[in-house]
Amino acid sequence: MAAMMQPQIILLKEGTDTSQGKAQVVSNINACTAVADAVRTTLGPRGMDKLIHDDKGNTTISNDGATIMKLLDIIHPAAKILVDIAKSQDSEVGDGTTTVVLLAGEFLKEAKPFIEDGVHPQNLIRSYRTASSLAINKIKDLAVSIEGKSLEEKKSLLAKCAATTLSSKLIGGEKEFFASMVVDAVLAIGNDDRLNLIGIKKVPGGNMRDSFLVNGVAFKKTFSYAGFEQQPKKFVNPKILLLNIELELKSEKENAEIRLSDPLQYQSIVDAEWNIIYDKLDKCVKSGAKIVLSRLAIGDLATQYFADRDIFCAGRVTEEDLQRVAAATGGTVQTSVNNIIDEILGSCEVFEERQVGNERFNIFNGCPSGQTATIVLRGGADQFIDEAERSLHDAIMIVRRALKNSTIVPGGGAIDMELSRYLRQHARTIAGKSQLFINSYAKALEVIPRQLCDNAGFDSTDVLNKLRQKHASGDGANYGVDINTGGIADSFANFVWEPAVVKINAINAATEASCLILSVDETVKNPKSESAQGEAAASAMGHGRGGPAFRGRGGRGMRRR
Ligand code: ADP
Ligand code: MG
Repeated sequence: MAAMMQPQIILLKEGTDTSQGKAQVVSNINACTAVADAVRTTLGPRGMDKLIHDDKGNTTISNDGATIMKLLDIIHPAAKILVDIAKSQDSEVGDGTTTVVLLAGEFLKEAKPFIEDGVHPQNLIRSYRTASSLAINKIKDLAVSIEGKSLEEKKSLLAKCAATTLSSKLIGGEKEFFASMVVDAVLAIGNDDRLNLIGIKKVPGGNMRDSFLVNGVAFKKTFSYAGFEQQPKKFVNPKILLLNIELELKSEKENAEIRLSDPLQYQSIVDAEWNIIYDKLDKCVKSGAKIVLSRLAIGDLATQYFADRDIFCAGRVTEEDLQRVAAATGGTVQTSVNNIIDEILGSCEVFEERQVGNERFNIFNGCPSGQTATIVLRGGADQFIDEAERSLHDAIMIVRRALKNSTIVPGGGAIDMELSRYLRQHARTIAGKSQLFINSYAKALEVIPRQLCDNAGFDSTDVLNKLRQKHASGDGANYGVDINTGGIADSFANFVWEPAVVKINAINAATEASCLILSVDETVKNPKSESAQGEAAASAMGHGRGGPAFRGRGGRGMRRR
């Protein structure tokens, strides 16, 4: 009775919405599982692609977990964490983005019954962390090093890793072709960390087999003026001058005020203008360069002038391309044409302008510093080439990682099965509840081989049983799903290889994310920040909730005012 008399304590602003407790954890888990379900079918060589149509009317076809997650525009606060881990996996290692989301989703799914039964999330979190560090140490144990091999051997090993990455992509049909291209490109840039030294140029049309690698730089022919046709289009061992100035006839009277007393003097001003530009052009020619590139415009006068002297020129080259030419040819970009010394000129073995599909390309081959490579991609639709570019990016990252860390593990779910077996075995030595939790973690790892089977239309229960049996027998650690026959096969012997760092990172990130989500038991929505975000957020909210990925998923947690 006395309690009813007490005044009500108002802690939060009117309209604040809080959901908390067990129900909130479960609801967050449901959201994350729904996200994992959205990318589930894209895993592996037989995975499907997603076509995503955004509000601006762009369509993207992709198999890449990170790209899909980004485009899905997820607004559920907890599920957003999965988007972030996919992104971080993408930037850290470049591949394994679907894997990381699937693992996180599965860890949470396994945790759900425990939470519902009243297990405290912290107990689960502790066991998950233990399991994760055990698993990572095991990966390090099992990984095979490719250090100390000859270049040829290394190349073929790296190509295998790249091929495994590419096998799940649209261009998987030509994986060997692209894998060796990627390996050559990565080896060309050596130890340089600047990824933009590998350029990818997309030219729609043609067959993807028409794609080629330039051991240097290539870019689309820039806009040109009359006179360009008379310039030579091929040079052997040319000197290259790189400029950041305009070579155009400028009306100097716009830069200064000039007063004339005698109309006849007007001619002298016109002459001066011409002299300025001729002087600049003359200096370019005297430098001995056969190719003149500028970030700014090269006008018609200059074009003709160079043409008369058998020099090739291109103006309005993009900053990025010019920098790449500089890095490749060993030249330096100049902001003045005074005192051009030999050292600042670049060179390459062969320069030519060549037709690629409908486009003309300026191609610098055989560059001395050798630290650039350009892949010219061909193929049908725009969406196809865009996806091909993303896939190549994955492969490039993988080869670089493999080159740096140089340890690999068998793919096709082999490593996951082995970790699962190891953890189950370890769990048996533990007393208490954490045995169950570690067992669940081990079970969650099996999602990778199971999904690989499901996506290929195999009987996953059957294959998984065979795999469990093989791994338990003690000599089957490398056995994974055989994507061609629907049975099991030695992934290592079949060259389905992945850099160890992909798995390590994926397990780490997925565990961290699931622990993070498990540790959240209350969401508070502040009415002010919500109204500030205005209509957009509200409509996105409605859309997200009603969207197919979330329809019919559990409650939104216990509500309280
Ligand atoms: P992610 O975005 O996680 O890289 P992918 O769609 O690229 O997802 O699929 C990667 C998975 O497919 C890895 O587990 C890898 O081992 C497996 N995989 C790739 N190629 C093969 C193959 N030829 N046979 C069996 N499994 C493969
Ligand atoms: Mg991949």
